[in-house]
Amino acid sequence: LAGKSRSGCEALKVVARCRPMSRKEEAAGWERVLQLDVKLGQVSIRNPRAGPGELPKTFTFDAVYDASSRQADLYDETVRPLVEAVLQGFNGTILAYGQTGTGKTYTMQGEGEKRGVIPSSFEHIFTHISRSSHDQQYLVRASYLEIYQEEIRDLLAKDQSKKLELKENPETGVYIKDLSSFVTKNVKEIEHVMNLGSQARAVGSTNMNERSSRSHAIFLITVECSEMGPDGQEHIRVGKLNLVDLAGSERQSKTGPHGERPKEASKINLSLSALGNVISALVDGKSTHIPYRDSKLTRLLQDSLGGNAKTIMVATLGPASHSYEESLSTLRFANRAKNIKNKPRVNEDPKDTLLREFQEEIVRLKAQLEKRGMLGKKRRRSSRRKKGVDGESATENEGEDDNEEGLEKNMENYLKEQKERLEEEKAAIQDDHSLVSEEKQKLLQEKEKMIEDLRKEQEATELLATKYKAMESKLLIGGRTIVDHTNEQQKMLELKRQEIAEQKRREREMQQEMLLRDEETMELRETYTSLQQEVEIKTKKLKKLYAKLQAVKAEIRDQHDEYIRVRQDLEEAQNEQTRELKLKYLIIENFIPPEEKNKIMNRLYFDGEEDQWKFQPLVPTGGNCNQMKRRPTSAVGYKRPISQYARVAMAMGSHPRYRAENIMFLELDVSPPAIFEFERSRDPAEQDPRALHMERLMHLDSFLERPATSRVRKSRSW
Ligand code: ADP
Ligand code: MG
Repeated sequence: LAGKSRSGCEALKVVARCRPMSRKEEAAGWERVLQLDVKLGQVSIRNPRAGPGELPKTFTFDAVYDASSRQADLYDETVRPLVEAVLQGFNGTILAYGQTGTGKTYTMQGEGEKRGVIPSSFEHIFTHISRSSHDQQYLVRASYLEIYQEEIRDLLAKDQSKKLELKENPETGVYIKDLSSFVTKNVKEIEHVMNLGSQARAVGSTNMNERSSRSHAIFLITVECSEMGPDGQEHIRVGKLNLVDLAGSERQSKTGPHGERPKEASKINLSLSALGNVISALVDGKSTHIPYRDSKLTRLLQDSLGGNAKTIMVATLGPASHSYEESLSTLRFANRAKNIKNKPRVNEDPKDTLLREFQEEIVRLKAQLEKRGMLGKKRRRSSRRKKGVDGESATENEGEDDNEEGLEKNMENYLKEQKERLEEEKAAIQDDHSLVSEEKQKLLQEKEKMIEDLRKEQEATELLATKYKAMESKLLIGGRTIVDHTNEQQKMLELKRQEIAEQKRREREMQQEMLLRDEETMELRETYTSLQQEVEIKTKKLKKLYAKLQAVKAEIRDQHDEYIRVRQDLEEAQNEQTRELKLKYLIIENFIPPEEKNKIMNRLYFDGEEDQWKFQPLVPTGGNCNQMKRRPTSAVGYKRPISQYARVAMAMGSHPRYRAENIMFLELDVSPPAIFEFERSRDPAEQDPRALHMERLMHLDSFLERPATSRVRKSRSW
C-alpha cells in the first residue's frame, strides 16, 4: 500500500456508532463495556472476563458517535460531504455493518422523526438541486433491492418472486438486469419509492426480524447532472449513491435456528464473509486476486471497495457486556476496513445516460409539437387561398403567418380558433343562396371533414403534449423550488452547521495527530535537571511502554485465537464439502452408466457471465425446433391420446385391454367363494389324476364364466 499515496487515492472512511443501552439490558443489569471518546474518535472495549492486569482495547476511527449522538450529527459530519460528492458526479457508498440489533437500520432508515441517512439524503439532494444554477439540469432516480441467500430481489417490481441476475458490461461494469428504477422529481416521490420498497421487504418475509437480519438491503440513488462546460459543450456527470443496510454480522450457528440443512445455512452469510475476504485481500497488500466474484454483494460493491467510489462504513455497536465478542469482532472488522484505498473520480460523460435520453426525447417531442403547430398554419394558409376566389390578397396573409411561425403559440387556443372559423364558414355556406344545392352539399362535406381532421389532430397533439410535460417535469432545472425551505436563513444555518462539523473533524484529526507525535517527541524534548528527575520520567515512560507492549501482546494472542477459530471453521467446511464430493463421485461411479455420464459431461459448459456451470439444451434452440414431433394431444374428455377403435371397444364392452385407467378392480369381491369338494373317500387308485385335474379346471371355468356384472362394476371415471 506504500505506493498508493498518489493523489486521487483516498482511504475508506470508517466511523463507529454505539447505541444506548436498551431498556431490557438496563433492567437485566448488564455491564457497560464500551467507552467512547468522541473528541479523539476512539472506542475502548473492556473484556468483562478480563484478568486484573488486562487493559481495554482501543480503536481509533475517523469519528465515533456515542449513545447521545443525534441522527443529524452523523449526517452533517460524515455523510453530507459524501452526498455532496455524489452530486458532483462521484460514486458514493455507505455501509452499515454490525451485529443485529445495534442500530444499522436505525442509522440508515431511522425511526419516524429521527430520520436516518437515507431520508436525510433525499432532503439534501433535492435542496441542492433547487439551489444550483439555472443552466444545470438534473435527473434523479431510485432503485431498491435486497440480497437474501444469494438471490437478488427487486423490492420495487410488481412481481416480487422474480430473481434478478447480475450481468457484467465491459464498459459500465457490473449491473443488475431488469432492475426497476423510478425517476423522481421531489422528496415526496422518492420517499414514496422508499416506503414501497420497505413494505415489500416486510411482506416478503414470514419472520421480518430474522429475514432482515440475514439480508442485505441496498437503496440506490442515481443523480445525473448536465451542465454547459467552458468549451461550450454540454457535459453530463453521473453520481451513484449506494445506501447499504448489511445483514447482521453475528456468527451464524452451523445449523441455523430452524435447523436448515448445511447447504442453505452456508448461503446465509456468504455475501458477508465474502465481504470480509475482499477487505482482507485488499488491505494485506500482497494479494493479487481480490475475490469480488465470490458473492453477489461483493460484485455489486466492487467499485465501492478499492475502486471508483468514496465509501463510508458505519460500524454499529451495542454497549452491553453480553455482546462483547461481537462488538470486538465488529471493531476489528472496521479497523481493517480503514486501510482500504479507493480511487474515486468524477464520472463525466459516460455512455448511455438516462438524462441524455430524456433530453433527446424531449427535443423530439417538442419538434413534433412545433411541426403540428406549423401544419395547422399551413392548412389555414391553403384553405384561405382556396377561399380567396374573389382575389383576396393571399400574400398578405402569408407574410403574417411567417412572422408567427417562429413563435410558440398556445396550441389549444389556436385549434379552438380554427374550429370556430371552420364552423363559421360552414354556416356561411349554408346561408349562401347563390350556390347550387349540389355544390353546397359538397362544400359542406368538405368543411365537415376538415373539422373532423382538426379534432383528430387536436387529440394527437394533446397526447404528445402530456407526454412532453411529464418528461419535462422529471428533468429538474437548477434553481427551481422543489423544496419549500430555500430561504436564505435556512441556508445560512446549514452552512454554519457544516462549518462546525468540519471544525470538529479537524480538531479530532489534530488531537489524534498530537497524541501520536507526543509519544515520538517525548524524549527529544526533555532535558533533565537532575538524575532523580530523569529516573522518574524514564520510569513513567517505561511503564507506559510496558503497558503498550502488554496490549500488543494481548492483541497478538487474540488475533491468533481468532485465526485458529477461523481456520478450524474453514477446515470443517472443507471436510464437509470433501465428504459430499466423495459421495457424489461414488454415486456417479456406481449408479450412472459411463456413456450416460459422458453424455451429461458433454452437455456441460461454463457460463462466464453468470459464473455458473450450465447444461446445453438437449434440443438446439432456434428455427429447427419445430422439426421435433409434437406430442399428440389428448382426445377431448380423455386423459390420454386414444384411438377411435379403442373408444368403440370401450363403449362396447368391458374388455380390460381398452380400459385406459382404473385397470385394477379395487372393489371387494362379494360373491360367495368357490367351494371344491375334496373326496377323500374315493379310492385314489380308481381316480385318474389327470381326470381329477380336468374336473378342477372345470370348476374354475365355471367360476370365471359367471356374469361379469356380479363381480365387476364399470369404472365410472370414463
Ligand atoms: P439492526 O438494524 O442493526 O438490527 P435496529 O436499527 O433495528 O438494529 O436497532 C435496534 C433497536 O435499537 C431499535 O429499537 C432502535 O430503535 C434502537 N437503536 C439503535 N440505534 C439507536 C440509537 N443510536 N439511538 C437510539 N436508539 C437506537
Ligand atoms: Mg436491521
